[in-house]
Amino acid sequence: MSITETEMTERVKKIIRDVPDFPKPGILFKDIMPLLADHKTMSGLMDFFAEKYANRGITKVLGIEARGFILAAPLALKIGAGIIPVRKKGKLPYRTVSVTYDLEYGQDTLQIHEDAIQKGEKVLIVDDVLATGGTARAVCQLVDKLGGSVEEVAMLIELEFLKGRKKLDGYNVFSFIKY
Ligand code: AMP
Repeated sequence: MSITETEMTERVKKIIRDVPDFPKPGILFKDIMPLLADHKTMSGLMDFFAEKYANRGITKVLGIEARGFILAAPLALKIGAGIIPVRKKGKLPYRTVSVTYDLEYGQDTLQIHEDAIQKGEKVLIVDDVLATGGTARAVCQLVDKLGGSVEEVAMLIELEFLKGRKKLDGYNVFSFIKY
């Protein structure tokens, strides 16, 4: 018997673990490892996402390092799309395109392979948490640079109080759970 979206949301909420003061004091880390370890819930969650994104012409699902990879891969296979990783600088072996963005302190650089997306391809961007939105915005810029079209930014969790959506103005954003 299939369960409703509300039941699924409650189940996923219960499984995600809050870890206070990780990786630094004052951060409440949303730990999805218990969810990944729970086959039944993960499977139901991937079915939900697959149903939402199937038949929308999406040809690539892009995962953001590192937890985004784990969500992007099963989803891509289910909807018949390819998988693309976006990684921190220096990790990808072939020629890359980069974007540098501001963090609270300092900057970070993300990279994608220059041939990862063909012009006009519809790309779904996936990650576990939308916090300030800086990371997701940088990834949208990478897709734009390669001539891809961001169909949607799909997040498992959105920390609404950090207003990450504002940074993604002009892009479609979906989050399964909001805090
Ligand atoms: P941001 O650029 O601020 O939206 O941060 C997003 C990235 O940082 C994502 O790749 C998340 O995995 C990670 N992240 C930020 N805040 C949290 C949090 N409270 N718990 C877990 N991961 C987080």
